[in-house]
Amino acid sequence: MNDSFSFHPHRRRALCCGAAAIAGLFTSLAQAEASTPAMPWQAWPAQVADLLHQTFEGLDPVALWDVHTHLLGNGDSGSGCTIHPSMTEGWHPLERLRRAAIMQAAGVPGDALGNGGVDRAYVARLRTLAAGFPPGARWMLFAFDRALDDQARERPDWTTFHVPDAYAQQVAALTPERFGWVASIHPLRPDALDRLARALAGGALAIKWLPSAMSIDLRDRRLSTFYARLAASRTPLIVHCGEEKAVPGAGRNELGNPLLVRAPLQAGVRVIVAHCASLGQALDLDQRRPTSRPAFDLFTRLMDEPEWRDRLLGDASALFQVNRSAKVWRTVLQCADWHPRLLHGSDYPLPGVGPLYSTARLVHEGLLDANDVAPLERLRRHNPLLFDLALKRRVAWRGERLSPLVFDTRWHFESATIGIA
Ligand SMILES: [Zn+2]
Repeated sequence: MNDSFSFHPHRRRALCCGAAAIAGLFTSLAQAEASTPAMPWQAWPAQVADLLHQTFEGLDPVALWDVHTHLLGNGDSGSGCTIHPSMTEGWHPLERLRRAAIMQAAGVPGDALGNGGVDRAYVARLRTLAAGFPPGARWMLFAFDRALDDQARERPDWTTFHVPDAYAQQVAALTPERFGWVASIHPLRPDALDRLARALAGGALAIKWLPSAMSIDLRDRRLSTFYARLAASRTPLIVHCGEEKAVPGAGRNELGNPLLVRAPLQAGVRVIVAHCASLGQALDLDQRRPTSRPAFDLFTRLMDEPEWRDRLLGDASALFQVNRSAKVWRTVLQCADWHPRLLHGSDYPLPGVGPLYSTARLVHEGLLDANDVAPLERLRRHNPLLFDLALKRRVAWRGERLSPLVFDTRWHFESATIGIA
């Protein structure tokens, strides 16, 4: 896949969550059709089997919930999912990748793609990958609401992709031992509170927003009732902060400023900042004359503010992608006092997208033992979810690793479901 999707260092920033997720949709689709069922550990070469044993040693699989898993589709099964045409047409590298991925899906007749093939293959692939984990491990599947403008009008032209709540709930309900679901509700919708009530009654474990793409200003006073409901139900709000250049969406990058999450925090909401805001720049609004700073530095400031200690969390998804700085890697590994507030997430399907990870760079930066590269790469080709977890368990800086607490995520969501079943 690498040669069909050339990856240049100067474009690293441009290939972030949304575009790469769409690329991952087609990568995972290709792999879905070509993949074999989950391989039992004893069938792996000894080096990989060792790596897997080390990965799960000291972890409770029942507590291992992946808090950042994208559910994607093109709606060909009637799921209601949409992808903006600009994401699959006209952007040549993606179109090339898509074609290559489909060709790689050997034996798939072209007409399967118009017959529920994309939606279903995506979910089938995810189930196959999940089956490679011990029983108990689960994935939180994200819905993704449309963008609305300031007057609460739906904006299809800003909506990069859309995954309805009902679809996420339905997919999770079919395989509850493996999947839970996360609702996405634009808070300016006239029926936002009703949708929230329905989502919580339907078992949603959290609410996910991508403010820059969906056009949500976290400081908007109209959000106060929505926040109050989240706080009262102890439902976590997963907020994507940091730069999001490649999701055209509403294009309001200033709304991804990590400092804006103080608004829901002040309202008593538990907030999970996706990727610890580890990509891009944001204005330091705490200065009288705000200057641009790495968004991650602003997230770090919030993590150090004592008033949010029991409320502010970060997810560890995508942190070890090649487009993050070595400073991010070292900080995350060394800040042991953060680890109880860091939550494991894969950002699936991105761990399977060729150019986004470089074990060579991690070795070069001194975070990964060169002996781990071959088994990790082997694992990645077969199961990118196992690769993502194994990688996070292996990276270290001066002997400091991510604590097992990072992978003990289930308990963060239990309170959200109390009284709802
Ligand atoms: Zn994501």
